[in-house]
Amino acid sequence: MTGSFPRAPTSSSFALTFLFPEIAVPASRLAAALLAALFPALLVAQQPNDSAYTAQIRELTPTHERWKFTTELVDHLPESDVPTPLDVLGYVPGTIGRLSYVADVNKYFRALDEASPRVRVLTIGESDEGREMILAVIADEATLDSLDSYKAMAARLADPRGASADERARLVREAKPIYWLAGAMHSPETGSPEMLMEFAYRLAVGETDFLRAIRQNVITLITPVQELDGRDRMVDLNKLSRELGLGPQAISLVYWGKYTAHDNNRDGMVVSQKLTKDFLETFLEWHPTVTHDLHESVPFLYASTGTGPYNEEFDPIVVDEWHALAYQEIMELTRRGLPGVWTHGFYDGWAPNYMLSIANLHNSIGRFYETYTSGGADCHTVNLPSRSTDRVWYRPNPPVNGVKWCIRSNINYSQSGVLIALKYVADRRETFLENFVAKGERMIARGTRSAPYAYVIPRDQRHAGEAADLVNLFRAQGAEVHRATAERQVAVLGESGRRERPTANAPRPDSAATGGADSARTDSAAKKDSAAKTVTVRPGDWIVRLDQPYTATVRTLLSRQQYSTSDPPPYDDTGWTLDELRHVTTHAVADSQILTMAMELVGDAATVAGMVNGSGGVLLVEHMGDWRSAVLPFKATGARVSVAEASFDAAGRTWPAGTFIVEGGSDAANGAVRTLGLTGTRVGGVPSVKRHAIQLPRVALMHSWIETQNEGWVRFAFDHLGIPYSYISDQALRRPNALDRFDVVVFPHVRGPIATILNGRPMTGPPIPWKKTELTPNLGRIDQTDDLRVAMGLEGAAALRRFVERGGLLLTTGNSSELPVHLGFNPSVSVVQTRQLQTRGAIMRAQPALKESPILYGYAESSFPVYFNAEPVLSVAERDTTERMRRMDPKIAAQAERMRAKAVLAFHEREDSLLVSGMLANGQELAKRAAIVDAPVGNGHVVLFGIRPFWRWQTQGSFALAINAMVNWNHLNVTPAESSGVAAGSQ
Ligand SMILES: [Zn+2]
Repeated sequence: MTGSFPRAPTSSSFALTFLFPEIAVPASRLAAALLAALFPALLVAQQPNDSAYTAQIRELTPTHERWKFTTELVDHLPESDVPTPLDVLGYVPGTIGRLSYVADVNKYFRALDEASPRVRVLTIGESDEGREMILAVIADEATLDSLDSYKAMAARLADPRGASADERARLVREAKPIYWLAGAMHSPETGSPEMLMEFAYRLAVGETDFLRAIRQNVITLITPVQELDGRDRMVDLNKLSRELGLGPQAISLVYWGKYTAHDNNRDGMVVSQKLTKDFLETFLEWHPTVTHDLHESVPFLYASTGTGPYNEEFDPIVVDEWHALAYQEIMELTRRGLPGVWTHGFYDGWAPNYMLSIANLHNSIGRFYETYTSGGADCHTVNLPSRSTDRVWYRPNPPVNGVKWCIRSNINYSQSGVLIALKYVADRRETFLENFVAKGERMIARGTRSAPYAYVIPRDQRHAGEAADLVNLFRAQGAEVHRATAERQVAVLGESGRRERPTANAPRPDSAATGGADSARTDSAAKKDSAAKTVTVRPGDWIVRLDQPYTATVRTLLSRQQYSTSDPPPYDDTGWTLDELRHVTTHAVADSQILTMAMELVGDAATVAGMVNGSGGVLLVEHMGDWRSAVLPFKATGARVSVAEASFDAAGRTWPAGTFIVEGGSDAANGAVRTLGLTGTRVGGVPSVKRHAIQLPRVALMHSWIETQNEGWVRFAFDHLGIPYSYISDQALRRPNALDRFDVVVFPHVRGPIATILNGRPMTGPPIPWKKTELTPNLGRIDQTDDLRVAMGLEGAAALRRFVERGGLLLTTGNSSELPVHLGFNPSVSVVQTRQLQTRGAIMRAQPALKESPILYGYAESSFPVYFNAEPVLSVAERDTTERMRRMDPKIAAQAERMRAKAVLAFHEREDSLLVSGMLANGQELAKRAAIVDAPVGNGHVVLFGIRPFWRWQTQGSFALAINAMVNWNHLNVTPAESSGVAAGSQ
């Protein structure tokens, strides 16, 4: 079946209406508009419906003898002189097969802005591919006329420091809650932009008391599409799927944004992606009281609260607000006869990495819907498993089977829900503003009444550049950061580890006084914290005072998380302590006098300047175990870079193995050292030490067409660190000699069974091209293929093996590390099937296991934190010291030992030292296991990361482990000393 997709009408058929609304508008509409202006109350009964539009809404909405799939709020469209979506786009939202491109959605909102004095449309960002992100502001005319004044009031309520009781009372009386609706963050979730167009029209022109109350009491913000590039790709893919006869949405979307897919909703902590930056900047400009993301998945409408455990930094008030709003929506929609509106049993509320966490950690309300999907823009008969339709306490009115569900059902549900939420906030305007300012006040008060009172980030530390980046992140998140201008000893909260911190779940002594979250879960380590030790704060050190409103993000990012295995299974990461993941030192200050010490506000981005000391033709740069050091060979263009394989003395000090020895190209080398924030020392001659020349690798970053999300984070890291690479798909492995031009192939985590990674998608039906065509103009931009079902196949796997055998490096992470294991590239490494291990997205302590390996250059500590996402657990065969080996020809025995896969980095040998942050139970199955394995194959190596060195732009502390492997790709063979590190895998 081809060509079944209905053609869009030519634009000229509605251009007249769009350009000259007065020509197309009947006289009765003008009269109605005039009446509305003069006698608004008269219009309640008089505003007529747009009959053509209303007829289509009714036709598109499924009917049922018992259940309703619409409400009186959305089962019609009021008539007005403002253009409707049908006028501008030629179809009613919810029309089968019709999904709107970003340009069309934006065109509609601009038309609304043009025609209605109650709508203003602003630009708030641009996608990686240049699409415009908009913010529509809807309120009554008087409110829009004074918009700047309302924004200023919201800002003052968000930061009430110094406000008098009178000012505070006046603000609560006069300000208006700002409610921000955002659609299509997740590109395969297609309904929300369609709904938001119609919703915006309805809110702007409707003359019911209900809608008028919202316009008068709430400032509604709408961003119809958040993931702009992915939306257009999804519209293309939906058309392609129909064109190919596969039906709607049969093909799972690969590239959404340029780098992230579903994980665009896991960037709220570290704000690395453009989308997140634009959202956060807009948030900090408008101070919305509520943000509301519109997602699509579970039936029929899930209003967020979550199962808990909730993030410890969420104020109890916001938890109450989630529930108040959700139960209001459930009750109102249930009474109207809609089945399947519920809350609680989906998502936990623990990790602070979602976009909505930005609101929840900035004293606002962050919430979301999951509305049941129609599968693109279609209808289907509902057929759900009983776990979705059973009546349970949190779902007393469950979804039902056997009914017809269409995209219009999705639109009716979410639009009705949003209207109910807005009306609830409008009717309780002062309550929501009271809560809003109270949450800020409580956050400020906590920082003045209980430890920690501040965080100190020493400027003079091993990874100073990373520390500066952390400061910049906190500033981007709206926290004020100061710089000490004097020296002072302060008591800090401490434990015996390499860093000091409070424990998130420790009960707070002041929780009754400030209303801070209290937790039943206690922590003995926190009690040890009270045995305070002191540190010296020095001039230039960064101080994040906690007596300010926007510090919840700082608190959660620098706390150690404890997720109990008796809690519901976690929805996402359980630990994220960012200074641990980034190997930065911070101090949680236990001494309230820190707040009175001399300091100045930091006004610019924090930077750490590198320096070059001494003179001479040879530059020595110590490897500090961070990415800034590790990428130096890529940056020192024109210089000859070698690396010391042992420690040596020069310029009056000892330099460790891994030190870069740079000859020639001195301007470039000095420049690179300074730009990277490193310290170099010039000496007269090359030191006498065993070294090897760095031969910069020709890197292929390889992706699969199964999914591109995880390689996307690696690609993002490479782009931002300046690591040059060629981008290839695994299909390229099928071409003869495809890997001849590479030295390193990086194959990041691809989820799913190895058989799928190897064989791709089912080879049934027609080829599925991912290409730019007339039908699909937005596909094929990042990579393209004639058929995205195809993977590397056995011939590709063989090519990969030949590549390694002739001397190349294959670097795998996460699940992709199982591929060379299962293919037996080196049989001395295996994947352990754990039986009782319970962990998920957590931070573990790891130990060097093969200290001589170049992969560990710069990692001087006896243990350090790494991110581990539950699997794979790798194991290597023990060194064979049996009688059999002793009687073997020593050359053969040495070769056997050389080819044995070795743990380079192992999980900590002691179970009780393993967990840094997050969830862990039965850690004995993980202790001592390999975290990174170097597996020789022929003349080359496979380096398998069981951990994820490039996790979501959070794990800067482990970036260098992977970069070191790449830079030293042809010098990975080492002869381990007998006593080297822990003997990983020996259990
Ligand atoms: Zn979603």
